[in-house]
Amino acid sequence: MIHSKENPLDFAETLKKLVELQATDSGLDELARLKKGFHQEIAALETMVNGLKNQIQDEKKVLEDLAKQRKSQEIEVGALENKVTKYLGQQNEVKSNEQYAALKQEIEKSREAKSKAEEKVLESLFQEDEQKAKIQKLAQDLTGAEKKAVDDKKEIIQKIEDCDKATREKKAERQKQLAGLPDDFAQGYDQLRNSGMKIAVAEAREDHACSGCHMNIPPQILNEVRKGIAIQRCTCGRYLYIKD
Ligand SMILES: [Zn+2]
Repeated sequence: MIHSKENPLDFAETLKKLVELQATDSGLDELARLKKGFHQEIAALETMVNGLKNQIQDEKKVLEDLAKQRKSQEIEVGALENKVTKYLGQQNEVKSNEQYAALKQEIEKSREAKSKAEEKVLESLFQEDEQKAKIQKLAQDLTGAEKKAVDDKKEIIQKIEDCDKATREKKAERQKQLAGLPDDFAQGYDQLRNSGMKIAVAEAREDHACSGCHMNIPPQILNEVRKGIAIQRCTCGRYLYIKD
């Protein structure tokens, strides 16, 4: 492409192409942002499902501990029961009233302790039932969450595929637009983008600010941009244009 720096028409045309290229790249940036968001949505779904799974594991551990606690309480009941049986057997062998009274007291104490231990066992069984219900509820939640995650994921993956398709189209368009620009502008533009400036072609706003760096554009440069006789850059390096 023959590019004449003296021809104002060429400048206008080149600037128009730069603005179009910028629009395509901004579109690509937006698509990349959307795609990132979709991947984050998928990660969040997985985190949610895994959170429920972990919670169920934790609650199962609590249930195991409750069962262990109940088992030792049941052993205690059994030991107290043996004690009572043993004392009852000894009742026939006592030699004095004092011994008999003392034994009777021991039997009562052991029976009392046994009934307290039995209450604890019942309390533990009750807690275990509650815990089992809690786990069952969580398992239902998990099934629901897993099903929803599968459906949602399918939808999100479709959106990602749409994004990819649009990205491929825009990239092809970008290549054409870049090839249609004079080399020095194509390189200048790419340099700006590669240096991290997402907006390489900025609007010279009515308030005299550059839409890229938000600083005031020097009056002389602004004047030339307005006259449209040459492509000007802001002090930040961005190409400047006036919005129609
Ligand atoms: Zn600027």
